Amino acid sequence: MITREERVESPTGNDARNATRRWPKIMSTQEIVRALVWDENASHVSKEIYPDGIRGAIAQALNKRGKSAPILATTAHLDEPDQGCSEEALNAVDVLIWWGHARHLEVSDDTARRIYHQVHDRGLGLILLHSAQYAKPLQWVLATSGDLKGGWREANPPDTEEITVCAPRHPIAAGIRDFTLRQEEMYGAPYEVPPPLCVVFQSYFPLGGEYFPSGICWTVGRGKTEGFRSGPGGGVGEGQGIGRVFYFRPGHETHPTYHDSNVQRVLRNAVLWCAKTRIESK
Ligand code: ZN
Repeated sequence: MITREERVESPTGNDARNATRRWPKIMSTQEIVRALVWDENASHVSKEIYPDGIRGAIAQALNKRGKSAPILATTAHLDEPDQGCSEEALNAVDVLIWWGHARHLEVSDDTARRIYHQVHDRGLGLILLHSAQYAKPLQWVLATSGDLKGGWREANPPDTEEITVCAPRHPIAAGIRDFTLRQEEMYGAPYEVPPPLCVVFQSYFPLGGEYFPSGICWTVGRGKTEGFRSGPGGGVGEGQGIGRVFYFRPGHETHPTYHDSNVQRVLRNAVLWCAKTRIESK
């Protein structure tokens, strides 16, 4: 069992950089989970739908519960020094949320390496959104291509995405029932990623009849048993890696997905799960 040694010492402060942390593996309900919402600062994101960018919309959604919220989200983007992901910035948070699309190749190997080590060695939580399936942090952290072998489609009029809760007892599904996004881009399975710990959500696109595992999670890094193949269950032998990772499929830049209340709840739940808290979202 790996114990982290950071704890929020100034949970009421507004500036995440002022917080020195020393938290136990499981936080108390009085503590704040710190999330960094990163995007590639893309010019093709709809300004009408996302006037503050995708990172701004997600951070606002995570923060909107005010002082009672256990999540404090800040933002960063690709055009900042160290691509918004300096060691200092990553050390200051429990969870990194990543949205990238057209600028994956501009993300440096140094940035991907810092994120890899933060997740695998320190236990930084990582949430990868939508077209981040081809982002370097996903490819490095999960050691995979992220290929959409079942294709993708931007239809006109847009696809509808029907999302089914497959694991209703999983913390990421807390408070979520099956829901539909009226406008989304289609991704089709098979999806080239490692076998997940859990498929929390599954999507169906009626226009073409495609399915996609749209909310899936893994643990990675320290704690896994090298070479383990099978065992009695309960995590014995397979172990739990120190880093928790969640991929969530919806989030095309020309649709208002991140304003949807179900999507916001999923992201909130995912931040808490990736940070290894027992806090229930409301
Ligand atoms: Zn898209």
